[in-house]
Amino acid sequence: MSTAHPDRRFVEADTWTASGSKSEMLDMFHDFCPRVQKLLKLCPEGDVLEWKLRVHEPLSHWVDGNTALVGDACHPTLPHLAQGAAQAVEDAAVLGVVLGKIKSKDEVHKALLVYQALRKPRADWAVATAAANGKGLHLGSGAAQEARDAAFKAAKKAGGENPDKAIDQIVQRTLYAHDCAQEAEDRYDALFSQI
Ligand SMILES: Cc1cc2nc3c(=O)[nH]c(=O)nc-3n(C[C@H](O)[C@H](O)[C@H](O)COP(=O)(O)OP(=O)(O)OC[C@H]3O[C@@H](n4cnc5c(N)ncnc54)[C@H](O)[C@@H]3O)c2cc1C
Repeated sequence: MSTAHPDRRFVEADTWTASGSKSEMLDMFHDFCPRVQKLLKLCPEGDVLEWKLRVHEPLSHWVDGNTALVGDACHPTLPHLAQGAAQAVEDAAVLGVVLGKIKSKDEVHKALLVYQALRKPRADWAVATAAANGKGLHLGSGAAQEARDAAFKAAKKAGGENPDKAIDQIVQRTLYAHDCAQEAEDRYDALFSQI
């Protein structure tokens, strides 16, 4: 049963292509800075779409027999870490390595389980980090928001942990200094023998 949100501005439709109202959009962002409002006003009437951004619980498994899920099908990710496509590309790279190692088609299932063992913890972490980042970046006014803004200032000054995980140095190193194909090369034999 669908329960209407008390605020009509929150779309109820499940689709991500529901059309929205330009005047409602302008009203929603009325207190944003003038530059944002100018951009929003440029949007042609009829071109406004309403999307829901959802967090999906991690799946229990990505592999069934000789079939494996990749990309958004197994780790749909909120945009707050810019990692949806990046993680999908890592899936593809790792699949390329593990499937390149099979000696017969009987090994496909085990190779896919190696793919899952390599990829799932990292992709699940990216999904959770993006969701947590979305929460942290969209706090309403109050003590938590003030503490976050103080942390932003401190990070800018001293280069410490950044409340925006997309630009935090440790998170960036974890995301961008990781060679998933090399990891697959290095760990394939051990993982394959354990499965
Ligand atoms: C506005 C926006 C900004 C984004 N920014 C970033 C970013 O900065 N960095 C980043 O890493 N990610 C970003 N993403 C996320 C990224 O686009 C997705 O994570 C990525 O496209 C997922 O790739 P995919 O191949 O898993 O799925 P998709 O790209 O959705 O591909 C699935 C394909 O399957 C097709 N398909 C569906 N059903 C069928 C069927 N029955 N038969 C045949 N074909 C079918 C679809 O048409 C589609 O072409 C962004 C997404 C959006 C919407």
